[in-house]
Amino acid sequence: MSIADNIKSLKTETTSKKVTLIAVSKTKTAADVQEAYDAGQRLFGENMVQEMVEKYEQLPKDIEWHQIGHLQTNKVKYIAPFISMIQSVDSMKLLQEINKQGEKNKRVIDCLLQIYIADEETKYGLGFDEAIELLWSEEYITLKNVRIRGLMGIATNTDLEKQLRDEFQELKVFFDGVKASFFRKEDSFDTISMGMSSDYELAIAQGSNMIRVGSTIFGDRVIKHFKNN
Ligand SMILES: *Cc1c(COP(=O)(O)O)cnc(C)c1O
Repeated sequence: MSIADNIKSLKTETTSKKVTLIAVSKTKTAADVQEAYDAGQRLFGENMVQEMVEKYEQLPKDIEWHQIGHLQTNKVKYIAPFISMIQSVDSMKLLQEINKQGEKNKRVIDCLLQIYIADEETKYGLGFDEAIELLWSEEYITLKNVRIRGLMGIATNTDLEKQLRDEFQELKVFFDGVKASFFRKEDSFDTISMGMSSDYELAIAQGSNMIRVGSTIFGDRVIKHFKNN
């Protein structure tokens, strides 16, 4: 199936479930993004700042770009003028820098707190207690140029359905708790981003309303580093 076919079938599936589809175009060419765009897709996710900026410059300006990978504070300035959402907020220091760059660009930048749900040591993210601490903090209340729209999580890279379901459910329960405790009156706190190519169906069944899908749309990515063997 072509990129356009993949977009169309995923769109049909997600629209009927009121789930937002982020097409993850990391490592793929601007031409690949354009093909998805021509099939009607407008939301794209990238994890490398430089790659996103290059694509942003080449491609139609009504694309909404989502940062989905770990973001270094010194790189926020490059995406602050145009980014639609930063899904990978994993520290107060980063949120403060996003706020500062939002102020400079006279805009409010939408963010998700990335929550650590995987049973792996390599993934970035805030623990449940760290997220609560951030939301309680006095610094957070002073930030006027960021808006926390919800939570993002990456499940363990496993085929074990029960484990995936448990991790997604944990994030959904936490989301509901955070919403009730901190954002009860804010309709804009509405996004729970979980699920990728291999697990988005399970994530949706557990309450995800935003999925980030790369290889199912664009095909496998070439792995840029390899082991000597
Ligand atoms: C690469 C990536 C995805 C998409 O992964 P696929 O398995 O290709 O769908 C989703 N979320 C994040 C954070 C990613 O880095």
